[in-house]
Amino acid sequence: TSTKSNKIIEKTSQFGANNYHPLPIVISQAEGVWVQDPEGNKYMDMLSAYSALNQGHRHPKIIQALKDQADKITLTSRAFHNDQLAPFYEKVAKLTGKDMILPMNTGAEAVETAIKAARRWAYDVKGVADNQAEIIACEGNFHGRTMTAVSLSSDTEYKRGFGPMLPGIKLIPYGDIDALKSAITPNTAAFLVEPIQGEAGIVIPPEGFLKQVAEVCQENNIVFIADEIQAGLGRSGKTFACDWEEVIPDMYILGKALGGGVFPISCVAANKEVLGVFNPGSHGSTFGGNPLACAVSIASLEVLEEEKLAERSLELGNYFKEKLAEIDNPIIKEVRGRGLFIGVELTEAARPFCERLKEEGLLCKETHDTVIRFAPPLVISKEDLDWAISKIKTVLSN
Ligand code: PLP
Repeated sequence: TSTKSNKIIEKTSQFGANNYHPLPIVISQAEGVWVQDPEGNKYMDMLSAYSALNQGHRHPKIIQALKDQADKITLTSRAFHNDQLAPFYEKVAKLTGKDMILPMNTGAEAVETAIKAARRWAYDVKGVADNQAEIIACEGNFHGRTMTAVSLSSDTEYKRGFGPMLPGIKLIPYGDIDALKSAITPNTAAFLVEPIQGEAGIVIPPEGFLKQVAEVCQENNIVFIADEIQAGLGRSGKTFACDWEEVIPDMYILGKALGGGVFPISCVAANKEVLGVFNPGSHGSTFGGNPLACAVSIASLEVLEEEKLAERSLELGNYFKEKLAEIDNPIIKEVRGRGLFIGVELTEAARPFCERLKEEGLLCKETHDTVIRFAPPLVISKEDLDWAISKIKTVLSN
């Protein structure tokens, strides 16, 4: 549309590897739920950087924590102690009810950490023979883009040209408890699952599945790992998506909103019996647990609590879903979701609708071809949500 944005997009494609297909919009400024392009056009962000921005863009409290910490110390590496790591641990331990935390930077790294922990636990604690440990995961999963994460994937396009894949992985259909039971062997170390599948198109497991998973894992001495990177931290209308079935996994994987959309930080949280298997030299990261990320994360988690973002997500999400369900158009196959984590499945490609929503000032992204994902920052006001609903009605009606 305008030259400045176009020039930026052109240069970006000129030098960048072609591993993304972004909507043709440049965002150069943002606050709360609103973003702006260099020409000054305003848009509402209905993606929240895949749920990393639950607290909204540039939340003042989180930005203040970033600035304050930047004036003190940003990085020590783990060769030395820093004074922000312990308070971060305490905060996450309290939130998860777990007594041990391991900090990393990105979601995929935390998934790697969870798999390493589960495998080593299988050998050192469970007594599985060397190199025999198995991980069970679900079809349709998304756990990131590292070799472990793509090895876990059932999507051939995520894996094509990247082999050989990591061995010792079994997949079951998402939500199929009998398939889980049949997949278990004495060598099973862990079951890794998203309590709501995000990238698969906001897929909710059948009622009772997570509860049964917890039981089956306990009975069979298997680590139950919940990847709450996208669905957790208020997004689904509860602190954790596992809370929907009052289930406590053996291990939580957290990322995205853990850094308030300001600084990357991820972690796994579990009890000592499992996470205690690491010893010096067995795992780590130069930036993992850095004081800047920890300070930002503490503030991000405080915002979640102080502004009751999980409750807010539940209330506004229910309202949003109701309004979406009112849209009468046969191309809408299903409206589903929990809290402000909503998928609208169409009978046709979703991208053209995302492009039209963009023209109306609303940014969202299709996932898996036919699903439009609506996941605004959880700080969104009722007024702003009503504005969005009217735009969505305009585009999706008739
Ligand atoms: N796990 C889940 C459930 C995710 O949704 C994502 C990212 O979308 C990841 C893991 C990977 O996180 P990251 O992109 O920070 O590596």
